[in-house]
Amino acid sequence: SAILRLILGDQLNINHSWFKTVDDTVTYVMMEVRTETDYVHHHIQKVVGFFSAMRSFAAELQSKKHSVIYIHLNDATNLQSFEKNLNAILSQGNYTQFEYQLPDEYRLDGLLKSYCNQLSIPYSVYDTEHFFSTREELGDFFEGKKMYLMESFYRNMRKKHNMLMEGDKPTAGQWNYDGDNRKKLPANHKPTAPLVFNNEVTQIVSELKSTAISTIGTIDENNFVWPINSEQSLALLDFFVAECLPLFGSYQDSMVPNEWSLYHSRLSFSMNVKMISPKEVTDRAIQEWEKRKDEIDYNQLEGFVRQIIGWREYMRGIYWLKMPEFASLNFLNHTEKLPNWFWTGKTKMNCLKDAITQSLDYAYAHHIQRLMITGNFALLAGVHPDEVDAWYLGIYIDAIEWVEITNTRGMSQFADGGIVGTKPYVSSASYIDKMSHYCGSCFYKKALKTGEKACPFNSLYWNFYDKHEDKLSKNPRIGMMYNVWRQMKPEDKSALLEQADYYLKNINAL
Ligand code: FAD
Ligand code: SF4
Repeated sequence: SAILRLILGDQLNINHSWFKTVDDTVTYVMMEVRTETDYVHHHIQKVVGFFSAMRSFAAELQSKKHSVIYIHLNDATNLQSFEKNLNAILSQGNYTQFEYQLPDEYRLDGLLKSYCNQLSIPYSVYDTEHFFSTREELGDFFEGKKMYLMESFYRNMRKKHNMLMEGDKPTAGQWNYDGDNRKKLPANHKPTAPLVFNNEVTQIVSELKSTAISTIGTIDENNFVWPINSEQSLALLDFFVAECLPLFGSYQDSMVPNEWSLYHSRLSFSMNVKMISPKEVTDRAIQEWEKRKDEIDYNQLEGFVRQIIGWREYMRGIYWLKMPEFASLNFLNHTEKLPNWFWTGKTKMNCLKDAITQSLDYAYAHHIQRLMITGNFALLAGVHPDEVDAWYLGIYIDAIEWVEITNTRGMSQFADGGIVGTKPYVSSASYIDKMSHYCGSCFYKKALKTGEKACPFNSLYWNFYDKHEDKLSKNPRIGMMYNVWRQMKPEDKSALLEQADYYLKNINAL
């Protein structure tokens, strides 16, 4: 017998049981194909990051004596789609069985299912052995419930995996210590410099240049900063627990110009392509806290663990529960285009300039930049969720649909009408100023609501509530804002709405 096993670009899990023994009857296949590079306009670092990690994974398998067919982007025989390449390989060998691991993306899941249905040989599907929960687990947990509260799912995961528990009680007494987090970085505080890798990726960059693949953003091909194998991913994890974990929770929501990673782990890319597992990450963080309890407060650790066994698993569960409908939800009926400067960073709005420029430079922004700067603005400007999704899916190195779309369309754009979040994440300048050091040096004035120098967030914020009063005013978490709006003087209200209208009409000039 001879088995052909497909490994997708985000299935680089060297600890998978597939690789425990070397079996001469098994051939692995990995491929770089145009269907994957071209479904959205990607950041060059995202394409390079995936292909570098795939090539290094194939080399690691080969060094362990596994047999691997690797199809490079520019190979003359590359037919540029999974089905066509698989057909070609299966027709050339005497394969008696085809196998693959469950894809994380709905599109690929469907594609491989229908591919297998027409095969003349048997096939099997394996789990990726990566996540804490199965695809269906969240759906089963919330069965019959109207609300899908992340916090309930998170507590359940803590109990089920006996993580940070003392018997059936949460360690330290409370489940969630978010109240102790979310501080602004003090003005004189210089954060630890991020650990970056100096990977040489000139070969892949030149291969990409020789194709018609169009990308966004920049890359330093001699010093590619992202980890491209499990060893580097583990080094990044070591760096994170040593240097960043002690302040992770405290400054998780803060933003500082020209500081692109602060105390964040930047492990999302490594985890999403499975170079490391979420369990390796949480186990390591918990061990470190146990060793350094005098230096690492519990709230820092709990906040980090919650992102991974809470939010990350929760988003995946929502994705499998709500796809494919989720991808076309547009609760607020938004129809606008993204401003042109989302692709260049050329705007006078300091917060957006910084968040977009660093995204173009590093293919990365941390959560609050994604949610409360770019996401907040796109929502206030009424941008169509398809446009917003395409931007996030393209620009971030960690963007894979299951975790991108649930965060973007759901959490950030409220296009799901409240599945993931209970209210839209919008704010005026005051929140941005409270959490960042952006406003002081901005062309716009954070305290002004109208006039040439008024911060656009201020009028767009009220305009948003005004426009969506019928859909939002009954939401108990927002009702209070409508009381404030209704009590405003009519002339102040119309001045705000006129200002917002002016900004929306001239959005590319902001
Ligand atoms: P850290 O701050 O160090 O957090 C640790 C880990 O927790 C992350 O690596 C991640 O795996 C997990 N995590 C934290 N928040 C979330 C969340 N909301 N959902 C899922 N996992 C989370 N994350 C992606 O991995 N891919 C995406 O495409 C993506 N798109 C996003 C789009 C928007 C609009 C928003 C608001 C968030 C998005 N996120 C996405 C979630 C989050 O912003 C990133 O996971 C995080 O910024 C990655 O950086 P980090 O590894 O330094 O995270
Ligand atoms: Fe952003 Fe407004 Fe502050 Fe400028 S003033 S940095 S646009 S919030």
